[in-house]
Amino acid sequence: MIHQRLKAVRVAMTSLRLQSMLVTELPHVRYLTGFSGSCGLCLLTPTDQFFITDRRYKSQAPQEVRGFKIIIAKQTLFPLLAEKKLVPANSRMGFESQHVSVADMLTLKRLLPLRRFIPAANILEEVTAVKDEKEIELIRIAAGISDRVFQRLLKLVRPGVRECDLAAEISYLHRMYGAEGDAFDPIVASGERGALPHAHASEKKIRKGEMVVLDFGCCYRGYNSDITRTLAVGRPTSEMKKVYGIVLEAQRKAIEGIQSGVAARSIDAIARNHIRRSGYGRYFIHSLGHGLGIHVHDPLRLSALSKAVLEPGNVTTIEPGIYIPGRGGVRIEDDVVVRKSGCEILNTSSKELIIV
Ligand code: ZN
Ligand code: ZN
Repeated sequence: MIHQRLKAVRVAMTSLRLQSMLVTELPHVRYLTGFSGSCGLCLLTPTDQFFITDRRYKSQAPQEVRGFKIIIAKQTLFPLLAEKKLVPANSRMGFESQHVSVADMLTLKRLLPLRRFIPAANILEEVTAVKDEKEIELIRIAAGISDRVFQRLLKLVRPGVRECDLAAEISYLHRMYGAEGDAFDPIVASGERGALPHAHASEKKIRKGEMVVLDFGCCYRGYNSDITRTLAVGRPTSEMKKVYGIVLEAQRKAIEGIQSGVAARSIDAIARNHIRRSGYGRYFIHSLGHGLGIHVHDPLRLSALSKAVLEPGNVTTIEPGIYIPGRGGVRIEDDVVVRKSGCEILNTSSKELIIV
């Protein structure tokens, strides 16, 4: 598995004529090496691969890291690249330009003079965009944990409960059910606050007659889930009930359109057109979905501007929403795997309007 991943990176290195590639973004380091700690980097050459970490991980690194030569730094990691002569003079070294800070770049240039630093922004992004079945299984487990949390939430959402109480429950339950932690801070937005697509849970108490948007996800062995459900607390207004039906239908239609070879923007258009025809076009204010995997937001985008074409093994969210200022919002989000024909929905939580 690691071998396949290294091979894919090396193919990309060849096309950029790189003699080495420095990988510093931690989820990418974990993807290549298996290392789950918080300090480490790797360097790939055409024939060799090195993993550098510090002394805190002296015993952990050999347990987790496979197929790499492990180097333990006494202090910071970059000086080892020079001390161990891992990067030949006058060579082209690729680096993850969207993840390396200016300060780190200056340090690298000082430590490794006479090297050419080549921004290689998308190598790991492209390699990680297509998931193998083992990775999909980890995302499926993460999605399953979040589905279990949702089942529990059905019993906890009621008038008088604060949004932040529910957010705390989500975080607690994710861990209790086996996740490493939340994939992101849970969003709990009730009533009018539901019109804010990324509202953080506040101290507001939930009231009868409100809709509550619950958007949360967890991380399991480095892979993330991301689910949204919108509940009604007591009978919703007829308008919000109608809006719920429109969002649900938009999501269903979009999912139905997914298969490999289809342009990502055409899936966005399916959902957007449905919402527009229903009269709520101006209230759907974000893209339809995003890639999901070792990041909660992998680079794949399902949006009007996306140039991506869906491939088997892409994992994406499908999350249309309608947000009406002053009145509230509805969003429904599932994680789906693109297959040769059609797709597989990883979440099992009901999408019918649930009144608690
Ligand atoms: Zn979400
Ligand atoms: Zn999402």
